[in-house]
Amino acid sequence: MDAVSHSDEEPDNRTPADQLAAHYREILAGLGEDPEREGLKDTPLRAAKAMQYLTRGYEEDLDHIVNGALFTSDNDEMVLLRDIELYSLCEHHVLPIIGKVHVAYLPDGKVIGLSKIARIVDMFAARLQIQENLTRQIAEALMQVTGAKGVGVVVDARHMCMTMRGVEKQHSSMATSVMLGAFREDSRTRREFLNLIGRS
Ligand SMILES: [Zn+2]
Repeated sequence: MDAVSHSDEEPDNRTPADQLAAHYREILAGLGEDPEREGLKDTPLRAAKAMQYLTRGYEEDLDHIVNGALFTSDNDEMVLLRDIELYSLCEHHVLPIIGKVHVAYLPDGKVIGLSKIARIVDMFAARLQIQENLTRQIAEALMQVTGAKGVGVVVDARHMCMTMRGVEKQHSSMATSVMLGAFREDSRTRREFLNLIGRS
């Protein structure tokens, strides 16, 4: 038996989506809308499900994503995945961050399936984020999983909290980079990476 159960309270049997929907209903009312009007009737639950999808990264973990897709290889040339689409949400305003991610690594006996790199990006992107942390998390995860000699990650993104709210910031984008191992220590490796993504 649950020692701290409250006998006078009904257990909450609603699904997480239904619970979230109740909050969205209040948000709509708080914005001065009528959540009962026809166009908004189903909005709370739809919005709840959309937000659950956009934050699905909390339910994922690295081991599950990689799932053995590591292969022995004597390739010691840079592997680069360019222009990975990025959709995330900023943790300050819960508004979209939209951009591109460029990921490169220098293998040390092991390579990872390219689609797995995109999924690692998605796992961290589908959470509430700031761009600096997102960039670092992607780099460190790839380093951890592949045991690479080095990893480089560059993220170039527009933040809707800037472009939609701000004045005269509609065209600003933000670039962040994290260089680990050989990408940090060897300027030639770093330059090769930046060249390949058109950044130098
Ligand atoms: Zn923001």
